[in-house]
Amino acid sequence: MIKAIIRPENSEANLRSYHEAYKNFSWSQIEDELPEIGAGLTNIVHYAIDRWAENPHHAQKTALIFEQAGKTVRYSYRDLYVESCKWAHLLVRHGFKKGDRLFILLPPSPEIYFAMMGCARIGVIFSILYPSLAFEEMTWRLLDSQPLAVLTTEDLVEKLSPEGMKGVQCVLILSGEPPGLFPWEVVTESVLARMPDTFETEKLPPESPLYLLYSSGSTGPPKGVVHAHHDMIGHLMTGRFVLDLSAESILWTDCDPAWVTGTVYGAFAPWLCGCTTVVQGDSFSASTWYRTLEIYRVTNWYTTPMTLRKLAAAGADLPGRYDFSSLKHIATVGEALVPEIFYWVKENLKHTPHDTWWMTETGMICIANFACEPTKPGSMGRPVPGVQAAVVDESGNPFQPFTLGQLALKAGWPAMMKSIWRDKERFSRYFLQEWFLTGDMVIADEDGYFYHQGRNDDLIKAGREFIGPYEIESVLRMHPAVAEAAVISKATTMGPATVKAFLTLNEGFTASSRLNQELKAFVRTNLHSEVTVTDIAFVNELPKTRSGKLVRRALRAQELGLPSGDPLNLRD
Ligand code: ATP
Ligand code: MG
Repeated sequence: MIKAIIRPENSEANLRSYHEAYKNFSWSQIEDELPEIGAGLTNIVHYAIDRWAENPHHAQKTALIFEQAGKTVRYSYRDLYVESCKWAHLLVRHGFKKGDRLFILLPPSPEIYFAMMGCARIGVIFSILYPSLAFEEMTWRLLDSQPLAVLTTEDLVEKLSPEGMKGVQCVLILSGEPPGLFPWEVVTESVLARMPDTFETEKLPPESPLYLLYSSGSTGPPKGVVHAHHDMIGHLMTGRFVLDLSAESILWTDCDPAWVTGTVYGAFAPWLCGCTTVVQGDSFSASTWYRTLEIYRVTNWYTTPMTLRKLAAAGADLPGRYDFSSLKHIATVGEALVPEIFYWVKENLKHTPHDTWWMTETGMICIANFACEPTKPGSMGRPVPGVQAAVVDESGNPFQPFTLGQLALKAGWPAMMKSIWRDKERFSRYFLQEWFLTGDMVIADEDGYFYHQGRNDDLIKAGREFIGPYEIESVLRMHPAVAEAAVISKATTMGPATVKAFLTLNEGFTASSRLNQELKAFVRTNLHSEVTVTDIAFVNELPKTRSGKLVRRALRAQELGLPSGDPLNLRD
């Protein structure tokens, strides 16, 4: 753990004093702004779209900027209202009722957002899927969720297997010609043009399901995590106090909407805060990313360490060619924001990156670094007001600071998942007494900052203790040759555990047995003696999920000849 403390970046942020806010906060303060929730019938679109669209001062404000292939389209809150109403009509005409599911399998497009908000209007549960899913991944999800329809394109429709599509009534194709693969195909473009532009939105009990998302699958087979309209309390609160959004903000969450971050902070949270969200539909290039920040005058940027790492790899001379003067806040999520990247951003983008932690199941950011507070490089921050977090042992007893244990959250924050789709048993496994167990291993320091150490099944036995792989990986990354590191325990039932490191190298370094020896010695010198890296493999790439998370389980499976569990959702 690095002891550096970085000064607060913005004392004028929406959250002025963490301690004050944490002590005095109650969720009812946010609920008071959303009175329909207290009254027992609501719909997230009422607060995310309709209240703005009905307000003459807000209706023409840009809600969504979408850019792709050199073309930019802007949609106001009024446009968002009209488009989502049309989608709601279209779905009703095709037999959708409350509780039915719609799969959205589209390349980046504004229609993803219109369709999801259209679903919300009638209480249909939407599920957004990565277009890069393989055939069998798609089949698994179709069979698990049994959607009434799939919304897709002429090209992507081929990913839908006849086996998976058995129970699906209808295929909605965005535009073009019906491909003729399934009995009931509808081209939505022409139908939407005829749909009315207002809709009587269904008011639902706040706990009604809103979306179903299959988590990344880094630790095991994906599961359908179900979230409700009620989550909006958490979206609004964290949008405002963690991402520091206000009605003037222009937020760019550069994450796919098929990942929970793209759904919640690419759409719901900014719209609940009444601000503008930017979607860049092109794939990553450093110049596209810098240009997006510049030309849309992005004020708040929610990104990933993976993206920042790619920007760093593209060189430190690039950022100086762009104007980021509007940028006020950078936040990250998905994996530990390692100190090397933290400092690179600070030096080259002239802003402190604020790491945040959450998971599909938590539905909102739960641990964060705040603009008004000191940041500690390598730490994911402290619990957001209204969330109680602890480091616990296997029986759920909290540990003192500086002890490795599992991160647990006091169950019951507003955006906590409602269920795991058709799997009560798996849902119940998350809970122990009053705690929701995250499966992530962390250490807390004396100020209550948390440090991510890996997942509970990534732990490595060192003598009589366990340590997280992150600690060894951090030491390896300190060596100038190492770009990325993944460490696994080759624990066997017999004999002591051995540790194997998979490394990618920085430009200018080549793999050699000399470097291998040097790195082993480097770990021996810099880490306590109980840990020996016995094996090093130099690789071109580490296995990652589509959202950029390291999948140590894939390395373990390959190494130990175990079943890989589920190959699903790996990037390649
Ligand atoms: P699955 O649960 O299917 O294995 P997943 O856990 O990768 O997939 P997500 O819900 O997208 O799917 O990811 C949440 C996980 O991402 C967290 O449990 C944690 O391990 C990791 N994570 C998120 N934010 C951070 C962070 N700031 N630092 C370290 N790890 C993080
Ligand atoms: Mg998980």
